[in-house]
Amino acid sequence: MSRLADPSAEREVALPGACQCPGSPHDADRVWVRGDFSSRDVAALQRATALAVERPDDNATLVPALFPHVRRWNLLDDRGAALELTPDALESLRPADLEAVISGIAEAVRRADQVPNPSGAPSAESPLGSASPTP
Ligand SMILES: [Zn+2]
Repeated sequence: MSRLADPSAEREVALPGACQCPGSPHDADRVWVRGDFSSRDVAALQRATALAVERPDDNATLVPALFPHVRRWNLLDDRGAALELTPDALESLRPADLEAVISGIAEAVRRADQVPNPSGAPSAESPLGSASPTP
């Protein structure tokens, strides 16, 4: 545990629907994205996301910003070999699948942006709230 972002943290993202690989060997098609983000990473992603919102038909800024945060996937090519993870392959995903990857990264960023609770503990109540007697 540290206050620095953990570069080895990962988050698993299941792509929507059943395995689409030849022979359907997987219970689900999955992508593993970074699970923890520094303030520098968050700022860069927010810039790229803002640009993408301005130009939703243009992945030219979004995919290069996302790619460093996508670690691996279990996708296979049409010959059944591991499909190499490249920016071009990422951009070649169907929109719903790329959206799932984006959502997975966004959720990891949201968590990185929160003040952490001890793991498993419920959120702390406001000290002001719990100190006030109920009328
Ligand atoms: Zn598959």
